[in-house]
Amino acid sequence: MPATPYDLTRDELAALMPGEPAYRARQVWEGLHARAQRPEEMTELPAALRNALGSVLRPALREVSTRHADGGETTKWLWSLADDVRIETVLMRYSDRVTVCVSTQAGCAMACQFCATGQAGFQRHLTPGEIVEQVAVAMRAARPRRLSNVVFMGMGEPLANYDRVWAAVQRLHTEMGLSARHLTLSTVGLVPGIRRLAGENLPVNLAVSLHAANDELRDELVPINRRYPLAALSDACAEYVAASGRRLSIEWALIHEVNDRPQDVTELVAFARPLAAHVNLIPLNATPGYAVVGSSPARVRRFRDDLLGSGVNATIRVTRGADIDAACGQLASAVDAGGRATNQQLRLARNAAAR
Ligand code: SAH
Repeated sequence: MPATPYDLTRDELAALMPGEPAYRARQVWEGLHARAQRPEEMTELPAALRNALGSVLRPALREVSTRHADGGETTKWLWSLADDVRIETVLMRYSDRVTVCVSTQAGCAMACQFCATGQAGFQRHLTPGEIVEQVAVAMRAARPRRLSNVVFMGMGEPLANYDRVWAAVQRLHTEMGLSARHLTLSTVGLVPGIRRLAGENLPVNLAVSLHAANDELRDELVPINRRYPLAALSDACAEYVAASGRRLSIEWALIHEVNDRPQDVTELVAFARPLAAHVNLIPLNATPGYAVVGSSPARVRRFRDDLLGSGVNATIRVTRGADIDAACGQLASAVDAGGRATNQQLRLARNAAAR
């Protein structure tokens, strides 16, 4: 029976090598994790074992396409899984770090209006191995540089797939040498998940996708707000900050005249300041199902300056991969060619508006 490399336990891996000394299983385990090697690359193994493992350990991720943007600094993979569902992974090389953005579900059930994954709906949870393998592929592609950061900001809602995501986090931390402060979970704001996270012993970074700081607007943009309104979200965030000692991040996708007005600054300041949170501003990226444009660069800068003036730390996130639909909120492998055309049209419209 073929198995996928990262959904096996150590014992299950050893059981694939009957008759081999115990140190072999350890070598393979370390090769898979610490060096992100495929069995074929493990030259310290006898050739027969290497070949046998190569045919038994089949990657969970089958490549459908690989696209590059930003002068080769950004790579987006589209993968097909065993049951033919599709997910995407994005690798971003910066001067000071190399970051991979991984998917945690195929599709997403949160239905945020402006997000392409949310527009396409939910398919299924990813397994821990499917999540870890995205990181392993990115580690290989990053060479000779070292993959330093993992952000759980691809397709899906990490805290809606808590157990499998946490198993992946532990594997990355314990076996792949990624420190907790270089791992970031991004959530739409699932309060029970945030509280559960506060009880874990690994202080990972938490990013909350806020986008609106009054319940009426947030109910509309981020429908799960109806279940977990801002007051409950703020309490859970405070609990996480106290327990983890990490600085909270707030994600805010700026949408022209929807959440980039002076009153939005005031409301965001009231939410962010008591939590001493850092705000990441992202001009909204175009998606097929939401006919509203992102804020112009001038309005984005103004919003940032107003936050800074009110004592809230804020930075503007440089968009990566927009031309290959790899930017925030654009991951939606289920979107067909027709959807892409619409996306292209929206981008042209946005560019025209920015001029
Ligand atoms: N479900 C998680 C993680 C995936 S979304 C979450 O909501 O945080 C990753 C980030 O991209 C979130 O901050 C999300 O709100 C943002 N995003 C979604 N669609 C976007 C778009 N069209 N433009 C910019 N950011 C978007």
